Amino acid sequence: MKVAIIGSGISGLSIANMLNQKHQVTVFEKNQKIGGLVKCERINGSLFHKVGGHVFNSKNQKVLNWFWSFFDIENEFVQAKRKAKILFNGKIIGYPIENYLYLLDPEIVKKIINELLTLQKEEKKAPLDYSDFGTFLQKNFGKTLYQQYFEPYNKKIWNIDLHSVSMEWLEGKLPMPNLEEVIQSNIFREEENNMVHSYFYYPKNNGSQFIVDRLKENLSITTRTEISEVDINNGNLKIDNQLFDKLIYCGDVRKLPANIKKILEENNVDVKYLEQLRSNGTSNLFCETDETDISWLYIPENFTKAHRIIYTGNFSKTNNSGSIRKTCVVEFSGKVSEDEMEKEITLLPGNLKAILSNYEPNSYVIQDDKTRAEIKKAKDVLGRYGVYLLGRFAEWEYYNMDKAIEAAFELANTINLDNDTKN
Ligand SMILES: Cc1cc2nc3c(=O)[nH]c(=O)nc-3n(C[C@H](O)[C@H](O)[C@H](O)COP(=O)(O)OP(=O)(O)OC[C@H]3O[C@@H](n4cnc5c(N)ncnc54)[C@H](O)[C@@H]3O)c2cc1C
Repeated sequence: MKVAIIGSGISGLSIANMLNQKHQVTVFEKNQKIGGLVKCERINGSLFHKVGGHVFNSKNQKVLNWFWSFFDIENEFVQAKRKAKILFNGKIIGYPIENYLYLLDPEIVKKIINELLTLQKEEKKAPLDYSDFGTFLQKNFGKTLYQQYFEPYNKKIWNIDLHSVSMEWLEGKLPMPNLEEVIQSNIFREEENNMVHSYFYYPKNNGSQFIVDRLKENLSITTRTEISEVDINNGNLKIDNQLFDKLIYCGDVRKLPANIKKILEENNVDVKYLEQLRSNGTSNLFCETDETDISWLYIPENFTKAHRIIYTGNFSKTNNSGSIRKTCVVEFSGKVSEDEMEKEITLLPGNLKAILSNYEPNSYVIQDDKTRAEIKKAKDVLGRYGVYLLGRFAEWEYYNMDKAIEAAFELANTINLDNDTKN
C-alpha cells in the first residue's frame, strides 16, 4: 500500500518505521526540521530542549525492544536515576512530596496525618468516588497537602479548575500511594521507585534530537509541506498531488483538513466540540546554572510563575559543551515574554543566567469527560475511509514518547491486518 503520514514527531516517525518494510511510506512535515515537540537545538555548543527536557523509558517490553533495535544502548545512551526535588517553603525536599513529610514543619505534618487518618476512616465506611482530578487529590492526600502543594502546582501547569479535569488521563501518570505506603516511606525514608521515569535513558549526544534523527534515516520525508487538503475519492486519498491508500494523521485534531472534517460532520461526530478542545502552551528559558545533582526541580508555590527547572545539563556531559557552567531549562505555563522570564529567574536558586527562550503554543492537552468518546467516534468513522489518527494531539492523549510508540504499534497492526484481509 501507499501510506501517507502527516507529521514527523515521534508518533509519525515510529509508525513510518513500523510500516516501511511492507508498504511504501511518505512522511509530510510542515516545518523545516523534523521531530515535533522533541526537537533540540545547539546554542553556542550547548543543547537547548525547546520544549521540556525529553528523557526516555517504558514499562512496555515490546516498546523497549523496538526502540533499542535502533540504538546501541551501551555506547549511545546514558542511564540515569531520576533525581526530582520540590522547592517548598524555601527548602528543597524530595519528590513525591508524600514520601518526604518528615521534612516539613511539625505542625503541618500533624495536620496532614490527622487528615489522612480521617480520610482512611471515611473510605472504610464508603469507598470514595473520584469524580474529577481535584476531588481525587483532595480525597487522597487531605486538605492541607492539597491546598499547599497539589492545587497550586497543578493549577500552575494546567491553568484550569482541577475539578473540571477528567480522571481518565491520570491512569499510570501519578504515584498513587495508599496510607500504609505513605507511612512506610516516611519511616524508612524510601525514595520514589515505582514511577515510569524513576530511572531513564538519555542520548549521549544531542538529546531527543538524536532519537528522531536516527528514526528518520530510512524514511522518505517531505519537509516544509503543510498538508491542509486531502481529497477523498473512491477509496483513494489525494495528498500533495499524489495518490495514497491510507493516511495517518499525527497533527492537531482541531486542525484536520476541511474534507476530513466534512466526513466527520456527515457522520454525526461533534466537530465543533473537537475544534474547541483546549491545550496549554509552555514557555522555556534556557539558562546557565550553578552545579547541582538534581534532574528536575518542581516549584509549586506562587512566588514565581515558573513551575519547574529541568537540569538538562546533568543529563549528558555533552549538553554543556559550549558553556563553562551547567545548563538547564526553566519552564513556565502559557506565553511568558523573555523579559518577564528573565525577571522570574532572579527568584530561583542556582544564579541562573538566561541564554535563549522558546514558546510552544501546544504542549499539554486538556481532556474532559467527553473527549475520549468523541475521539473514538472520529476514529471509527475515519477508519472506514482509510484515515487514522495517531499521537498526542491527533488522539488528544497525554502521551509520553513511549505511549506514542505503543499507540503506533496498535495502529500498525490494524493497518497490516486490514491489508492482509483485502489480499
Ligand atoms: C513539556 C513536555 C515535556 C515532555 N517530556 C517528555 C519526556 O521527558 N519523555 C517522554 O517520553 N515524553 C515527554 N513528553 C511528551 C512527548 O513530547 C510527546 O509524547 C511526543 O513528542 C508526541 O509526539 P507526536 O508525534 O504525537 O506529536 P508532535 O511532536 O506534536 O508531532 C507532530 C508533528 O506534526 C507536524 N504537523 C502537524 N500538522 C501538520 C500538517 N498539517 N502538515 C504537516 N505536518 C504537520 C508538526 O509540525 C509536528 O512535527 C513531554 C511533553 C511536553 C510538552
